[in-house]
Amino acid sequence: MHELSVTENLLELALKHAEPTQANRITDLYLVIGQLSSIVDDSVQFYWDFVSKDTLAEGARLHFKRIPTELLCLDCNKSYLPGEEQLSCPYCDGIRVKILAGNEFRLEAIEIEN
Ligand SMILES: [Zn+2]
Repeated sequence: MHELSVTENLLELALKHAEPTQANRITDLYLVIGQLSSIVDDSVQFYWDFVSKDTLAEGARLHFKRIPTELLCLDCNKSYLPGEEQLSCPYCDGIRVKILAGNEFRLEAIEIEN
C-alpha cells in the first residue's frame, strides 16, 4: 500500500509541473530511488498504469535510477559504500553511522509533448 500513495504523489507532482507548460501529454518520468529506500520499481509501475489513467500522464514511461548507499562512519569520520552483507565501517569496524545517500526518492525530470 505504501507504493500506492507514493505513486499518487508522483502523479500529482508531474501534473503540477506539466500544467503551466500547457502540455498535451507527459511521455516520460525520470525517478531517482536510493538503494536503501523500500520502494519497489515494479509496484510503482503497476500502480502508475492505474493512477495515471485518464490524465495527461496516461501511458507515460517510468525510468528508474538507483542511487547506491553511502555511509559516514561517526567513529573515524570516513565515508564508504557498504557491501550487501556488511554495513559496518571497513576502516575501523565502527557501527555508528550516518546515511549520506541511499534514502532518496524523487522525481528528477519529466518529458512532455505539446
Ligand atoms: Zn570507521
